[in-house]
Amino acid sequence: MSNFYITTSIPYVNSEPHIGFAMELVQADVLARYMRQNQTPTLFATGTDEHGGKIAERAAEQKLTPQTFADRVSSSFKAILPLLNISNDRFVRTTDKGHEQRSQYIWKNLSQYIYKGKYEGWYCTGDEAFFSEQVVKANKGVCPQHNRPYEKIQEENYFFKLSAFTAQVKQAVESDSFRVIPETRKHEILAVINAGLEDISVSRPKDKIDWGIAVPGDTSQVMYVWFEALMNYITVLGYPEHEDFRKFWPANVQVIGKDILRFHAAIWPAMLLALKLPLPKVLYVHGFVTVNDKKMSKTLGNVVAPKEVVDKYGSDTFRYFFLRHIPSYSDGDFSWQRLEAAYNDELADQLGNAVSRTAAMIVRYQQGVIGNIPEPEHDVIHYEQALEQCRFDRALDEVWDQVRGLNQYIEEAKPWEIAKAKDEEHLKEVLAYMAGALLEIAGLLAPFMPATSTAIKQIFGSGIIKETPKPLFPKQQASQTVPSD
Ligand SMILES: [Zn+2]
Repeated sequence: MSNFYITTSIPYVNSEPHIGFAMELVQADVLARYMRQNQTPTLFATGTDEHGGKIAERAAEQKLTPQTFADRVSSSFKAILPLLNISNDRFVRTTDKGHEQRSQYIWKNLSQYIYKGKYEGWYCTGDEAFFSEQVVKANKGVCPQHNRPYEKIQEENYFFKLSAFTAQVKQAVESDSFRVIPETRKHEILAVINAGLEDISVSRPKDKIDWGIAVPGDTSQVMYVWFEALMNYITVLGYPEHEDFRKFWPANVQVIGKDILRFHAAIWPAMLLALKLPLPKVLYVHGFVTVNDKKMSKTLGNVVAPKEVVDKYGSDTFRYFFLRHIPSYSDGDFSWQRLEAAYNDELADQLGNAVSRTAAMIVRYQQGVIGNIPEPEHDVIHYEQALEQCRFDRALDEVWDQVRGLNQYIEEAKPWEIAKAKDEEHLKEVLAYMAGALLEIAGLLAPFMPATSTAIKQIFGSGIIKETPKPLFPKQQASQTVPSD
């Protein structure tokens, strides 16, 4: 099998990491771990996006240099990686010297498609984005996201000839050679492409924004932050000369949120085509996570930090909840009540209980000796297909069918009655089957819940259980300390 390269988007360091981006990291991590488990050489990259006027603005508010400010927020993103047990190989920062130099190299390589023009229009620094006359009119001149007036901009900029790639990008999306999933996002981007891709402004005058990468050969301009940030996916591989680039490009899967679809499904492929590079194979687009059915916002004070969840429930519970209970193909809702229900009903009562009961009976009836574990017997084709389609929720449903099946088997086989009847041979078979089923479940859970998978393998994998293990998911009371809305 060939190599596997997977990326997350690189979050903008204007605010601290929240659970929505944490979910994206976990989704990408599942695929990276799954591919490594299948012996495929894998490279998993994430990072932070750090230039632009908004960063300079935030830094000034806090009386910091943009670099110091970016360093701080970037490290808080870095800090959630071990917290969530993320197995990334690389962490790219757009302020890395390597990224800056390689972006300039890329700019030069794109020069055939870059021209100078006059830009007239509207800009919101909160979004670091340009807006059309229609949008500005509809919002009565004030950006609703940031509650600040759009700035009228009249300046000389460089433009990228996005329009020249309309047909090629469309063809790639339609034919699935550049596969956008889910299908709803594919239709969405095709609608954007069919409406016509216009050339985009890709630089800003340095006297307006100086926190950016200089345009090669023109000291009066810096690259537009979005344009330069997209390049991270190849600069992190050492484009153009490094062997990692030759080995790992094109990306097998790029994971993004639905708000940045246009950048990744229209502009980025056009840039790659202009560089004569192959397009990523899959662009997987996840939805938004609300909290108690409301959009997370600082004003509402309902932003949930990944650390809050992990501190209380552990990283595997975090991973489990966001992978199974937030739909992989649409938006989903987080609440402490839903998380607690999933923890108690599914992790503690179903999985944890099956592990505890099985181990306890092996200790009690057979002095911990497991005996001959039968070969795995379940068909995992649906699990595999679900993973190929980034249906993390469905893949876990498949695993949970096995967890439920095992609990049902225990109820029906009633090993305690076989023990009473002193049918040792039969008991040995039943308990070994149960241990085998748990090892099989542990294997399937490895990419999703690595710590739990390892714990189960440690209990049942060595042939002997020395003592009854502590519960994997100790039951949590509906405590008063759980924040609610
Ligand atoms: Zn805005």
